[in-house]
Amino acid sequence: MSTERPRVVVIGAGLGGLAIAIRLQSRGYRVTLCERRDQPGGRAAVYRDQGFVFDAGPTVVTAPWLIQELWELAGRRADDAVRFVRLDPYYRIHAHDGRMFDYSGDHDKMAAEVARFAPGDVDGYRRFLGESEKIFKKGFEELGDKPFSTVGSMLKVAPALIRLGSHRSVYRFVSGFVKDEALRQVLSFHPLLIGGNPFAASSIYALIHFLEQKWGVHWALGGTGAIVAAMAKLFGELGGELRLSSTVEEILVDKRRTTGVRLAGGATLPASIVVSNGDAGWTYRHLIAPEHRRRWTDRKIDRTRFSMSLFVIYFGLRRKHPDVAHHSILLGPRYRELLHDIFEKKVLAEDFSLYLHRPTATDPSLAPEGCDTFYALSPVPHLGAGIDWTVERDRYRDRILDHLEQHHLPGLRRDLVTSHTITPLTFRDDLLSLHGAAFSVEPVLTQSAWFRPHNKSEEVEGLYLVGAGTHPGAGMPGVLSTARVVDRLIPRLPDDGGRDPIAGTHAA
Ligand SMILES: Cc1cc2nc3c(=O)[nH]c(=O)nc-3n(C[C@H](O)[C@H](O)[C@H](O)COP(=O)(O)OP(=O)(O)OC[C@H]3O[C@@H](n4cnc5c(N)ncnc54)[C@H](O)[C@@H]3O)c2cc1C
Repeated sequence: MSTERPRVVVIGAGLGGLAIAIRLQSRGYRVTLCERRDQPGGRAAVYRDQGFVFDAGPTVVTAPWLIQELWELAGRRADDAVRFVRLDPYYRIHAHDGRMFDYSGDHDKMAAEVARFAPGDVDGYRRFLGESEKIFKKGFEELGDKPFSTVGSMLKVAPALIRLGSHRSVYRFVSGFVKDEALRQVLSFHPLLIGGNPFAASSIYALIHFLEQKWGVHWALGGTGAIVAAMAKLFGELGGELRLSSTVEEILVDKRRTTGVRLAGGATLPASIVVSNGDAGWTYRHLIAPEHRRRWTDRKIDRTRFSMSLFVIYFGLRRKHPDVAHHSILLGPRYRELLHDIFEKKVLAEDFSLYLHRPTATDPSLAPEGCDTFYALSPVPHLGAGIDWTVERDRYRDRILDHLEQHHLPGLRRDLVTSHTITPLTFRDDLLSLHGAAFSVEPVLTQSAWFRPHNKSEEVEGLYLVGAGTHPGAGMPGVLSTARVVDRLIPRLPDDGGRDPIAGTHAA
């Protein structure tokens, strides 16, 4: 009877799109997943060259159970599909004054590291950890997988958000506990992982610190690409259809209800339910005709704040640098001012802070023998800045490589085998993200929960949104949670076995 099952089209095979496609297919819907690129994964795509394997995007895996539960929902064993190892340290942070901080998930080790780094801040750190736990319990465990489709749902949580002091920024929140400026940076950089400015993102995002302590920072053996490949395989095994190189150009609407999508080239795919994993801003602006939009008008989209973008250099070296940690954060001379340049002034600064990824520290399979795989990531303004990246690209790349060669990777240019660079243009032109933003809608309080584009569209019946631009937001735990929210919102089929759409067995 499978031909009678309702047809769902999912637009985009990012992690959010893959997750909702697996969820709905395993619930009995017939799902077609359309991805414009020639591989699934979105920001988590993979570049390969000469034996080097580069995960393009997410590398810090927190809450792996959010991935594993997809196999549970499908009645399979996740361990057979993806294996995770916990990292220690999670991050090595190089302060600009030469001090180093090994950030881990072991409370005693963390306290000892704080005592070594900033002896006066040990008590403050412990209090910070306690507060981060309280925020986590409210912000992640209670609100993270709840739909915010009505004003009422927002009003209900408002008192709790006020009690938690969510109007404060993460940096201000951290500064209330510790005094050392470099330690404040160590404990406040996390919003950057989801596209937020630590000086503007709500202190609710301080929950990330506790989330990492609770569930760890992990690495998937084979890289994040192995997670994507396993998810695509699971979807196929469940009978789902993945169409690569298929760009959706329009979400079809008739009498305020979706009837399917139109692909580039003109073909249409009828469906009673459409889930967009495309950038939320792009979805409303470019995939739905203006006459079908009452709230997400072009004007409202123009007034929405989008996250910063990223400049990333992927490179392979013919030697190893065993002294470089898996995840390094290299803080530049300025913190507040640099973030101001990126998020507010929108200028390309002369200085930078970098995230340096060396996956071969954990997983030698990602490079030829005796070699190292790296990427260096620099947050930069989104395309609203008017920077001409066709001109700036090589100059900026050279400055970053010079810095790395001088301070961290001696002989880098001599040892370079391969490299590939992406700029904000890649986010706009390949991934169809408004303003080339790397994390879609910026996570500030006034654009959170109900104020974000809703998971169930208020414009078009039968349309749902997953991914970074909707609730709860960007990052792997965030976008996997958007799929949990949408799973709850989409009606159950009569014969779905009564399964709970959010298994959540690991969440407690
Ligand atoms: C360099 C980088 C590093 C990051 N590091 C981390 C990290 O360490 N940890 C972490 O948790 N998060 C990290 N993130 C954030 C995380 O990767 C993203 O928030 C998350 O992967 C976004 O998933 P998504 O579901 O929103 O889909 P996306 O990855 O945005 O995928 C959307 C997909 O939709 C496709 N698409 C768009 N429009 C259409 C259309 N019209 N038709 C067909 N297909 C379409 C796109 O091609 C794309 O494949 C990082 C992001 C970047 C860019």
